[in-house]
Amino acid sequence: MPKEPLNFPKADILVIDDTPENLNLLSAMLTEQGYKVRSVTKGSTGLRGANAVPPDLILLDVNMPEMNGYEVCEHLKASDRTRKIPVIFISALGDVLDKVKAFAVGGVDYITKPFQLEEVLARIENHLTIWKLQQQLQAQNERLQQEIHDRAKAEEKFAKVFRSSPNPIAIATVSNARFIDVNPSFLKMSGYSLDEVIGNTATELNLGKNTVAIAQTIQLLPETGSLYNLEFEFSTKCAELKTILISLELIDLAGVPCALLIANDITERKRLENEFISLVSHELRTPLTSTMGALDLLGSEQLGTLNEQGQKVLSIATTNTERLIRLVNDILDLERMKSGKIFTRKMKYNAADLLTNATEAMQAMADQFQVKLIINPVEVELWADPDRLLQTLTNLLSNAIKFSEPGDTVYISATLSESQGVESEENQPLLPKYLLITIKDQGRGIPEDKLQIIFERFQQVDASDSRNKGGTGLGLAICRDIIQQHDGKIWVQSTLGEGSTFYVLLPLPVQ
Ligand code: ADP
Repeated sequence: MPKEPLNFPKADILVIDDTPENLNLLSAMLTEQGYKVRSVTKGSTGLRGANAVPPDLILLDVNMPEMNGYEVCEHLKASDRTRKIPVIFISALGDVLDKVKAFAVGGVDYITKPFQLEEVLARIENHLTIWKLQQQLQAQNERLQQEIHDRAKAEEKFAKVFRSSPNPIAIATVSNARFIDVNPSFLKMSGYSLDEVIGNTATELNLGKNTVAIAQTIQLLPETGSLYNLEFEFSTKCAELKTILISLELIDLAGVPCALLIANDITERKRLENEFISLVSHELRTPLTSTMGALDLLGSEQLGTLNEQGQKVLSIATTNTERLIRLVNDILDLERMKSGKIFTRKMKYNAADLLTNATEAMQAMADQFQVKLIINPVEVELWADPDRLLQTLTNLLSNAIKFSEPGDTVYISATLSESQGVESEENQPLLPKYLLITIKDQGRGIPEDKLQIIFERFQQVDASDSRNKGGTGLGLAICRDIIQQHDGKIWVQSTLGEGSTFYVLLPLPVQ
């Protein structure tokens, strides 16, 4: 009576028995059930066969001349290649089967003749299943061991970086912004001991005047995602003030969401920057202005006519001097804004005029770069400093144009919105609270890790941008300051190779 086909792949069974009748009987029986059967009459031949192509299971006669079943089994178990193959012993009626010995030499089961078909099959199936499960378990175990090993390695690496990093690093819980670990560099910068820091918040330690904002930033980290280079004034235990940049990353510590804060002490860089700025303002501006005057005079040919070569040299000198003056003016603008020396002069200003004026101012540049400007303004009154907003939009348009290819289009448009940054579903929101200006280009785009950093001073995606595109790396820092002075926000979204969209969100005056 043929049975249902077995539900695991047909196993390969090796039968070793010196009685040909037994061999034939078993062979026929197992083949009929769909097994692949190899049969041999000698222990030594069986061993060779098992070694050459290890079977999934071995049926092994106990009593055989030359080498009996126990010895064959011992050999099988002694070799790495055949050790794991399950062996079922067969004993003939009247044979003395030493069960203890059968198990001792590594057998998993035994069958006594005469065979009962169902019993043989049930035992074989049983041991094949056990063997398969064992294999799976072992593979799973190996995978787990590997995972544990990898994890331990990663943790060890992190711990090493954490301990020996020259950058101050702190870990705080997201739920209540309390420090749970800080590295030696953090302790050195802050002047506190580990015991004083652990369990406290930045506010409790009085680590600066913006500590509440830092705690909020930590708590909002799951929503905002990683943040880079936030400038922060840090106060040490002895109340010494330092300027640091903090980058925050969300990490998971044994199921607890935590913030990894990596600081960069830029106090010295700031001092040098300020020194440089005062040098620029005092030493560079005046001579540059007079150089420009001299170049203008040469260009006007009041001092004689220049030949073609001379005019070329003069044009190069003029372009470079203009660039230097732009840089100096940008730096001074930023510095005055930072120190509050530039006051915005706010007045009523129509947003449509703002967009039109900005576009007109940049039309000549767009023509020169063969870039099309498309404007989609909106009529709404702003309470703003026209010059400063115009400066912002012309800078954004100038970037959009210079990072585009000839034939590309730059779109400048404005929409009214009820909430920050999100356009209302209807075209005309009932109660517009914000104006969202969008400047969209089809240019080279900005890599994701630079999207925030380009708003910092002197930050450019490519070090060659300044040389190739004539920029200073200060434009966006100025834009950000101006927009912040209008209580607004500026940000960018970008896809590399497809283009960038800069957003400027301005609050509308309360009606
Ligand atoms: P720059 O004077 O160099 O233009 P910005 O602060 O205005 O200085 O811009 C900083 C950097 O940001 C640029 O040098 C450029 O690398 C990148 N950038 C700004 N706008 C764009 C844009 N629309 N497309 C691609 N990159 C841009």
